[in-house]
Amino acid sequence: MYNQKAYALGSVRSYIREVFEYGRQQAKLVGEENVYDYSLGNPSIPAPEQVNESLHRILNTVSSIKVHGYTSGPGDDGIREAVAANLTERFGKEIKPANLFFTCGAAPALMSALTALACPGSEVIAIAPYFPEYKPFTESAGSKFVSVMAREPDFQLDLDALAAAVNEHTQAVIINSPNNPSGAVFSAETLAALAALLTERSEKYGHPIYIIADEPYRELVYDGVEVPFIPNIYKDTIVCYSWSKSLSLPGERIGYVLVADDVTDSKAVFAAVAGAARSMGHVCAPSLIQRAVAECCAIMPDVEAYDVNRNLLYNGLTAAGYECVRPQGAFYLFVKAPGGDALAFAEKAKLKNLLIVPSDGFGMPGWFRLSYCVSKEMIERSLPVFAELVG
Ligand code: PLP
Repeated sequence: MYNQKAYALGSVRSYIREVFEYGRQQAKLVGEENVYDYSLGNPSIPAPEQVNESLHRILNTVSSIKVHGYTSGPGDDGIREAVAANLTERFGKEIKPANLFFTCGAAPALMSALTALACPGSEVIAIAPYFPEYKPFTESAGSKFVSVMAREPDFQLDLDALAAAVNEHTQAVIINSPNNPSGAVFSAETLAALAALLTERSEKYGHPIYIIADEPYRELVYDGVEVPFIPNIYKDTIVCYSWSKSLSLPGERIGYVLVADDVTDSKAVFAAVAGAARSMGHVCAPSLIQRAVAECCAIMPDVEAYDVNRNLLYNGLTAAGYECVRPQGAFYLFVKAPGGDALAFAEKAKLKNLLIVPSDGFGMPGWFRLSYCVSKEMIERSLPVFAELVG
């Protein structure tokens, strides 16, 4: 016997993984330059040089016992201090070291926050299109997953739809901005309207409705767009962050959960986050990389290469007749599938070694996602294939 729920999660087909593996096989047959793989969100900009310098310095100067040893569960005290000071300075809100719980990336940060908030009968709302993992994370944590569509064509929040979905069971709303897969950045105005709605409903139902702000793409923005710091707009916000995308460190597994002091039941929620992490086997985030991000947390990524790709792909596809959401952040382009059946279109594209991700898993059928964290040359080579397909 084994756990049937775990089996179902582990054996389910992942289109993204399958298409990525298919691409690797095809590359052996037709040559890498003839495969156009837009499937994975793996950063293509190398980590800033300072990160590697910092890692070397730490390895050369800090005792091996310390560098490779356990830190305390929420993270090393000095490291939490450094990151808290950086956040306080950047966002003009006092963040204390005790507000930060370091995790192995944004995914476990989300899982810890969702588990910390799950109560009998609780519901969690996500805005579609959404990061596909939200559904299994929410359900594994013990809440009901509720999807609310974003507003077309700008993919901002649909406040009317949200007002209809929030009820006495709603425990949290997940906000992911910059958004995977749409590239939208939710405006301060939209977030203020959401905050007003949640404040009113929290009072009405007699319990706080939290925002879980999932922000691994916070620093990846274009055209000077600002990403509002949601705890400044709505106090009952729990931030889940990682350096996976901003410093191109997805394999290093480093991020945090932030529960500021003014969050309702802040200390209890923080303890529940710690307990949730413990229940999932968390001991501490990797010690070496904790030290490196403490030294490098003020570094802003150079998004120039992503920006070039964004414009090339957006302009190329719209010129070819595709309908696309112009991304303001992250490194994804969300495109309407010609003919309306995204899976059928993706299969057609696959025959030409163009690997794209149909949007069904993002909770919004009829579109596909392109991860443009790829080489500019690959985009240039792929544009004629896109044109052929839409023709
Ligand atoms: N949230 C979103 C929206 C993501 O796109 C990702 C990864 O792609 C994650 C969370 C997980 O990030 P991490 O690699 O830091 O766990």
